[in-house]
Amino acid sequence: MESTGRAGKQDLLRRLPSVDEILKQPAIAEALERIPRKLLLESIREALDIQRRRILAEQAGEESFSLDVRWLASEAVRLAEKKNEFTLRPVVNATGIVVHTNLGRSLLAMEALERLQEVCRAYNNLEYDLAAGRRGSRYVHAEAVLREITGAEAALVVNNNAAAVFLVLNTLAKGREVIVSRGQLVEIGGSFRIPDVMAASGAVLREVGCTNRTHLRDYEQAITEQTALLMKVHCSNYRVIGFTAEVPLEDMARLAHSRGLLAVEDLGSGSLVDVSPFGLPEEPTAQQALKAGADVVTFSGDKLLGGPQAGIILGRRDVIDRCKKNPLTRALRVDKMTLAALEATLRLYRDERRAFAAVPTLRMIATPLETLRERAEELARLIRTCPGAQRLSVQVERNVSQVGGGSLPERDLPTYVVSIRSATWSAARLEQALRHHTIPVIGRIESDRYLLDVRTLQPGDTQIIAEAFQALLADTKS
Ligand SMILES: *Cc1c(COP(=O)(O)O)cnc(C)c1O
Repeated sequence: MESTGRAGKQDLLRRLPSVDEILKQPAIAEALERIPRKLLLESIREALDIQRRRILAEQAGEESFSLDVRWLASEAVRLAEKKNEFTLRPVVNATGIVVHTNLGRSLLAMEALERLQEVCRAYNNLEYDLAAGRRGSRYVHAEAVLREITGAEAALVVNNNAAAVFLVLNTLAKGREVIVSRGQLVEIGGSFRIPDVMAASGAVLREVGCTNRTHLRDYEQAITEQTALLMKVHCSNYRVIGFTAEVPLEDMARLAHSRGLLAVEDLGSGSLVDVSPFGLPEEPTAQQALKAGADVVTFSGDKLLGGPQAGIILGRRDVIDRCKKNPLTRALRVDKMTLAALEATLRLYRDERRAFAAVPTLRMIATPLETLRERAEELARLIRTCPGAQRLSVQVERNVSQVGGGSLPERDLPTYVVSIRSATWSAARLEQALRHHTIPVIGRIESDRYLLDVRTLQPGDTQIIAEAFQALLADTKS
């Protein structure tokens, strides 16, 4: 290719349309209805700059830039649309990981979404006691239903479970010792480590036992005047296997109480229902932990519970009252949106069958394998019928999904995936193309195949995925 000379380049630069000429294009007029003018202007200048740089580039050939005013206008609109995108937006989760921490963890039930709108569109009694006609407490709202479902004497909801653990330790053990088994000093993603939270709370960690084995006598021997409480942390995202021993909560609580101490359990996921009938190991429920003698339990609102991000503290009234009075509670408090969504989610748990049907997290865990197979066949059919799909090899395969979110490690749920291979695109290229779709589609790669696990797809998602493939197959440049 012959490169354009200096004089030729100056001539090309002069022939570039002006900002005003581009502004007059119908594509811009139409875009002005949805995109702020400032963004469009910026984008027109950017589009022109890109062409200028291409013209001035060493080897510039005619096909590497454009002087066409209509093309420049549409390019400016494309750039402006990119700038105008929300940073936080919906994606399609085709990873099969139900509680996906990177993808927003839990989907809210329709009942919770509707409640959010009703409560937040109007003024509400967040901190107003309607019976007495005076200032009330925001903490009463989810408390009633939590007590009803779990049988706990009292409840307190804070920002997340990390905050719940922090608040409990700060309130009950600041400046004193907390005895924890070495096998339970867990790190959760996002740099939450039990020893660090403990240090920040002002409590002093007293580790006992060994990584694989801790006995009741280890706790017993560590109790001193300095001890405030015995704590159990649920191994939510790992498992110690082989020659192991853990002290049951019941025994730990009995020992604590016999010495006038408190027993606390951080449940992590803290399900309110038994998920073991769906092929998962028995996860201790909050109700079981309370029955086993825990004075306080803490767990997340958006892991297995399937509600909004929140940290739930349940337990003895006197202990919860002390937590409520801690000035730090104000810094960890939840807003009306959390309380509205949480109360609506929890009410679904009054009837377990209803919870499994309406709470998306439970529904996805409980989806029958046959339904997943049908969904995968349907998705495969939609992809295979996209124009140009002969460039793809589309198979339905058995695979496994994970619950995720640091819940139930090493325990996979059988599922069906749509597996895609192509001579044109590598699995990495397919993954990238779908991730960059208007509505991003997040799948996974396994042995150079691109996999879409249908367990975590929501109504309408198969259509979005098919559109993403249509766009890829229609893009002749790729
Ligand atoms: C997930 C988890 C936490 C942190 O909960 P967040 O709601 O993410 O703050 C704390 N402890 C355990 C055992 C967990 O599994």
